[in-house]
Amino acid sequence: MPKLQYHIAASTAVSGLMYLIFKSWGLTTASFISGIFIDIDHIYDVIREHGKDTTIQEFFHISHGAQFHKVFLLFHAWEWLFAGLLLSWYSNWNHWVIGAVIGITHHLIMDSIYNSANFLSYSLFWRWKHNFHFDTIFNRLIDHKYSYRK
Ligand SMILES: [Zn+2]
Repeated sequence: MPKLQYHIAASTAVSGLMYLIFKSWGLTTASFISGIFIDIDHIYDVIREHGKDTTIQEFFHISHGAQFHKVFLLFHAWEWLFAGLLLSWYSNWNHWVIGAVIGITHHLIMDSIYNSANFLSYSLFWRWKHNFHFDTIFNRLIDHKYSYRK
């Protein structure tokens, strides 16, 4: 999983570019925030598998080491982009909604590249179909997962 500082850097760059193009603080802010904070869905997976007493340091170790048997990653899903595009249209192209779609898009692209994930790894329905089994969904991370050290 890409480290937090990479998401902050990417989100800053993409959102800055969006500001230069659209001159909208709402769009820029939503893109910046969503590009970083969709990673909060890792909290659910970490607590479910490692307990609620997990420290912040352990949280990052578990996430970076992909120490999961199952992985839900609720917000990491291409399906949200389709929902977001529909919502953008329905909200008459609200800048906050468009910004959130842009943020989620660049985050998922970055995660896909970094994790060498196949396109379907970030489909919620596909993960569901595979019973959220980590080794099936992120099979290219298996070597990393089982050789990871603190
Ligand atoms: Zn992520």
